[in-house]
Amino acid sequence: MPDEDHFDAVVIGSGFGGSVVAQRLVEAGEEVLVLERGQPHAPGSFARTPYEMRRNFWAPHAGLYGMYDVWGFDRLDVVLASGLGGGSLIYANVMLRKSERTFVREEPGVDGYEYWPVTREELDPHYDRVEELFEEPERYPYKQGEPYSTTAKTKAMLEVGEDIGKTRRPRLAVRFSAESGGAAKPGRPIPGSEKENLHGVPRSTCRLCGECDVGCNYGSKSTLDLTCLSAVWKAANGTIRTCCEVKSITPAATRNGYLVGYEHHVKASAAHAADLTAPGTDRHAVVSADKVILAAGAIGSPRLLLENRAALPRLGDSLGSRLSANGDYFAWIRDCRDEHGKPRYLHPSNGPVITTSIHVDDRKARYGRGYYLQDGGAPVLGDWAWQTLELPRDMLGTRKLLVQRLLDWARRRPDARRSQLLAALFGEAASSAAMMPVLGMGRDIPNGQMTIGQGGLRLDWSEEPSSDYYEDVRDSLERLAGKLGGKLVTTGLDRRHRAITVHPVGGCAMSDDPRRGVVDSYGQVHGHPGLYVADGSVMPGPVGANPSLTIAALADRFAGAMISTGEG
Ligand SMILES: Cc1cc2nc3c(=O)[nH]c(=O)nc-3n(C[C@H](O)[C@H](O)[C@H](O)COP(=O)(O)OP(=O)(O)OC[C@H]3O[C@@H](n4cnc5c(N)ncnc54)[C@H](O)[C@@H]3O)c2cc1C
Ligand code: SF4
Repeated sequence: MPDEDHFDAVVIGSGFGGSVVAQRLVEAGEEVLVLERGQPHAPGSFARTPYEMRRNFWAPHAGLYGMYDVWGFDRLDVVLASGLGGGSLIYANVMLRKSERTFVREEPGVDGYEYWPVTREELDPHYDRVEELFEEPERYPYKQGEPYSTTAKTKAMLEVGEDIGKTRRPRLAVRFSAESGGAAKPGRPIPGSEKENLHGVPRSTCRLCGECDVGCNYGSKSTLDLTCLSAVWKAANGTIRTCCEVKSITPAATRNGYLVGYEHHVKASAAHAADLTAPGTDRHAVVSADKVILAAGAIGSPRLLLENRAALPRLGDSLGSRLSANGDYFAWIRDCRDEHGKPRYLHPSNGPVITTSIHVDDRKARYGRGYYLQDGGAPVLGDWAWQTLELPRDMLGTRKLLVQRLLDWARRRPDARRSQLLAALFGEAASSAAMMPVLGMGRDIPNGQMTIGQGGLRLDWSEEPSSDYYEDVRDSLERLAGKLGGKLVTTGLDRRHRAITVHPVGGCAMSDDPRRGVVDSYGQVHGHPGLYVADGSVMPGPVGANPSLTIAALADRFAGAMISTGEG
């Protein structure tokens, strides 16, 4: 193996776990290679039209190398990202710490128990540090009369939320002011930003377009490619290769460390800068490293380890177990009305996707498993889609004007003015504007089991053990809908016993006991020194809150241990 193919560390995946570890190891002077299967996505390049969206999915076997990686398991659908920066490209920016009392230590036994080998106290310094890496997230700067106070959904949530739980504006990894400590103003250029990021594109402050989950075209989100990965890319000892999908991890025969085999998606990488892709046009390549950090996410990492079990024989039986959907519950509150029956407009397309969070903690939750309820948003395109639902009612609403026009025509005094009629066709626009998507998440029971079978990855998961938890979340969402004068419309969980999660965690759970977990409390795989997992899969149970900040904080802890022990 020539020298240039050997690194101190290879990081597989560039989401919250992988990017933080890569930056820390680079800062410590190690030669680091980041291998990411997806493409780089610069601000300004995110898909917006149906034409662009049709190719924006990850299915390399079908020639698709886009950003959304969607799985439909037996009873659980999972939405993930593929791209440089992982989930940060499509996430809603919420940076919450895991609540202190949810670092539970339950007795091992039945499926789905939780035992956290770390405490909140131990994680706090790491939370502090990663917040710095993510440009010091700040609370949504909602203040009456100030530029960001136009978001009606924020106002409504702050008005009614306290009746349900502790209501706050969570920290968001979004730039609201062009300079640190400066005034928050939408759409302002961030000076010098084009020199700071690996795409070389200018960024600006948030302009409230509600497009966070389809990629921010203004560079306002502090995504990982614009922060940690740009630091790695700038360092002489950091290398990033996108469109490189890892397929194999095997212990090196002649030295300590591992060989990592990957497939280079040459067709997809052709469009990208040479310093962001693998050299040459070989479809298959192997690199070696003293240590390997697997950070391919809660589906990607267990899957890779399951597929490579034969080469890594000391992997324990707990691999693939204890997957949690983080209690995700998606719904909409529709047709909100005030006490006079007038639409209560919430304008979901105005603002970042999430601006507020209602927390019902374990002590207040009906079944002892706490949760969060958050406002949702969607691009303007969503408003138009919802509005079509109202069309029959709106058409009916124009009947008086149409009759008048007919009478005018019959009396031979036709009125050529059409503006009033066209305006009437929009009716109250209540379907699109007096509504809001809402998201619940919290402490479900982590009972998913991943296996590799015929046809690939399988997941056995059921909502049944968590049905009390889901019932409590739904009841609170009903109360929230009632307080906003609207109706709750839920997704399939009630009727079809299917859930959707955007926050899967678990599968390579942490435990200091090798019989009960895949990695120790510093991320090292039991029985395989120098092999680490650092992503959402190491969670021994649901995070409860939105998990990214906790994933990043744990990765920071793991990286610290790798550096101080010089393991590998
Ligand atoms: C719509 C949406 C909104 C969200 N909003 C929030 C939010 O507001 N706050 C929050 O905390 N969380 C949010 N999340 C969840 C958050 O994105 C994830 O929890 C987080 O990204 C997980 O981090 P990770 O490091 O575990 O993995 P990921 O971020 O998923 O990163 C894994 C990376 O590994 C790559 N990869 C996978 N397999 C391979 C392979 N074989 N070879 C090379 N690379 C590979 C993937 O392409 C990906 O880039 C949201 C998620 C979605 C989908
Ligand atoms: S609301 Fe729009 S501008 Fe603001 S962070 Fe989200 S996508 Fe970017």
